[in-house]
Amino acid sequence: MTSRQPPSSPGDRKPFAVLDPATGEVCGEAPDQHPDALDATVDRAQEAWLSWRADPVARATALLAAADAVEAAAADMAPLLTREQGKPLAESYAEVARTAARLRYFAELDGPRPQPIPDGRPVRSEIRWRSLGPVAAIVPWNFPLQLASAKLAPALAAGNTVVLKPSPYTPLATLLLGSVISTALPADVLTIVTGNEPLGARLASHPGIRHVTFTGSVPTGRAVAESAAASLARVTLELGGNDAAILLEDVDVERIADRLFWAAFRNCGQVCMAVKRVYAPARLYSDVVEALAQRAKAVVVGSGLAPGTQLGPVNNAPQLARVERWTEEALADGARAVAGGHRLDRPGYFFAPTILADVPPGSPVVTEEQFGPVLPVLPYGSIDEAVAAANDTGFGLGGSVWGTDLDRAWAVAGRLECGTAWINHHAELSLAQPFAGIKESGVGVAGGPWGLHGNLRPFVVHRPDEGWQ
Ligand code: NAD
Repeated sequence: MTSRQPPSSPGDRKPFAVLDPATGEVCGEAPDQHPDALDATVDRAQEAWLSWRADPVARATALLAAADAVEAAAADMAPLLTREQGKPLAESYAEVARTAARLRYFAELDGPRPQPIPDGRPVRSEIRWRSLGPVAAIVPWNFPLQLASAKLAPALAAGNTVVLKPSPYTPLATLLLGSVISTALPADVLTIVTGNEPLGARLASHPGIRHVTFTGSVPTGRAVAESAAASLARVTLELGGNDAAILLEDVDVERIADRLFWAAFRNCGQVCMAVKRVYAPARLYSDVVEALAQRAKAVVVGSGLAPGTQLGPVNNAPQLARVERWTEEALADGARAVAGGHRLDRPGYFFAPTILADVPPGSPVVTEEQFGPVLPVLPYGSIDEAVAAANDTGFGLGGSVWGTDLDRAWAVAGRLECGTAWINHHAELSLAQPFAGIKESGVGVAGGPWGLHGNLRPFVVHRPDEGWQ
């Protein structure tokens, strides 16, 4: 079986260039698919669905084989991912491993069985669970492979076919992922389409698509929901976050500092569930700022392909400009850069790991999602004040509480208004748990059996009981 690239189409265009964020130079190119070609792609996905949906055992076998194939391709996929995304090579290998693990998890997850509906009447009713049809998956550039598998593994396991569009910043590793997975699948069960807008908008509004599952920013999520309204397809949105970490009075600063630092700076801060604001009790404020700043100054920043690199570049020029602008605004408003605070003077999109103290709470670096290597630390007086500040946001993805008394931390964590709250760590997720942001952070539930359910619909069969006349 071969890689499923859509055939040449009306108005086929020249491929577009993909840049290496560590150098700013071209590192590859990808097909710039004409949106009109989506009609043929979705038609083929519809045709492929008719047999793919019919045999759950064959699906599980194929997805397990796909997981093996992804693992076997790690030595090709991980460096390609680092080259276009920027993350350190070890993190790319870890991402490939998580991609395979997700395929395996959903291949082995039992789907919901038919359930009777007892309601006391002399009838027999049963709920059965059916797949939806072709699913459109649209993903961002921060974890291209992991987020692709988070979409396609539950959708395919449930019996749907998938048309997946990666970000134009990171199409290369996803194209390879698509061709590797497709060696284990029937034709047209999975298609990767690459190109610039309006490709995503046209995919989200395509009448043949029955579920649009999107991960990305809040404004694009809104646009996707509007596009999907055209066909009234189901919509799942996993959007941005502005997660707060609250440190309690009894926190052991030195003990948690490494973990807290990396919860904010992993993948250069480009994680939806990164710690994006730290609230420290006034008494410990300078200790916390200092502990984080020490770590920021010691981090090895460089190309993700260079041995020893701990932090790569920001992925792209617009994102770097946004991080720089909000840092400058915070500094102009009176914040202090205790570490970093500026771009690095070298080719590529590097920004010095930055710890900001004395930031006005209304500064965009606090109220918006900075999505980069910049962390504001804010002091608080009472715990009520800290919880109110943590919840005072339109986002609602995650949050964390850090302290020694776990019962106390547990009680505070329960007051956070978000989808997932952690104690003494942040953004550690299990494949088996539901993943759902609230407020502007998302619509629908991914992860675990809930992720499978999000790709199924109930179908009820109802008949009179025996003795009917
Ligand atoms: P983005 O919203 O700019 O783009 C996401 C995807 O949407 C890309 O593939 C892009 O090409 C496509 N797109 C752009 N315009 C579109 C349109 N009008 N219609 C359809 N598709 C369109 O996001 P980004 O900058 O690539 O990624 C960063 C964002 O993703 C951050 O906000 C981050 O928090 C969020 N994110 C959320 C999660 C989560 O699970 N909640 C995970 C990772 C990233």
